[in-house]
Amino acid sequence: MPGSIRLFTNADLLSGGSVAALPAQAHYLGNVMRRGVGDAVLLFNGRDGEFHARITELRRDRCVLAVEAQTRAQAAEPDLWLVFALLKRDATDLVVEKATELGVSRLCPVITARTQSDRINPMRLTAIATEAAEQCERLSVPMLDAPVKLPDLLGRWPADRRLAAAMERVEAAQISGCAGVPIGALLVGPEGGFTPAELDALHRLAFVVAISLGPRILRAETAAIAGLALLQARGDMGVWP
Ligand code: SAM
Repeated sequence: MPGSIRLFTNADLLSGGSVAALPAQAHYLGNVMRRGVGDAVLLFNGRDGEFHARITELRRDRCVLAVEAQTRAQAAEPDLWLVFALLKRDATDLVVEKATELGVSRLCPVITARTQSDRINPMRLTAIATEAAEQCERLSVPMLDAPVKLPDLLGRWPADRRLAAAMERVEAAQISGCAGVPIGALLVGPEGGFTPAELDALHRLAFVVAISLGPRILRAETAAIAGLALLQARGDMGVWP
């Protein structure tokens, strides 16, 4: 149903069941979208697919929905991770929203030598990712990791997951030149770029492939969005289960 309101829920979904929406969702349905009892909504939870549901009770901060027929079965989704150096708040918000739209399965914020921030507001970023997932019609919300230092992340990286490290001003292949190389994650640095020591460490790792996103120096958020769009366009996005 194009244009339907879609809501993410943590509840199990089954035809004939009922789901209590969160207070914020009740507010959104009643006060923002002016929906009422009897109106239809789509529900998904990242496990059971997507279901048609109907509002059976709606008050200021309480909404109950009757779950009706399944509209889409849960399908395997690309397993692509985005490793990104923390940026200023608005830029981080943008990266989380756009990465969700571009199908990323896991968001891995990292702290590098030149990152200007070392913390996130997980509830705020989860809300942004959830809203983006609801809007773009995906069936899951990406996982959000706690920020870790880049060397710690690289030290426990799964060796079979190729990490495409976006590097400006260095001799690196274009993504288009990596055809046939399955890539499981994209790494984007901070506004100040990676330090020479970080670049050296990345170059020494067997699971890292250095990639260029073209001759211009992109803002970090542009690099994340462009890199993910290019990976998606290759048609082999991520490691499939
Ligand atoms: N301050 C750095 C400089 O002037 O050289 C630029 C850093 S850039 C704003 C932030 C991040 O975006 C980089 O660490 C890199 O991961 C990515 N990036 C930007 N432009 C890129 C390009 N043309 N190719 C690959 N990665 C790029």
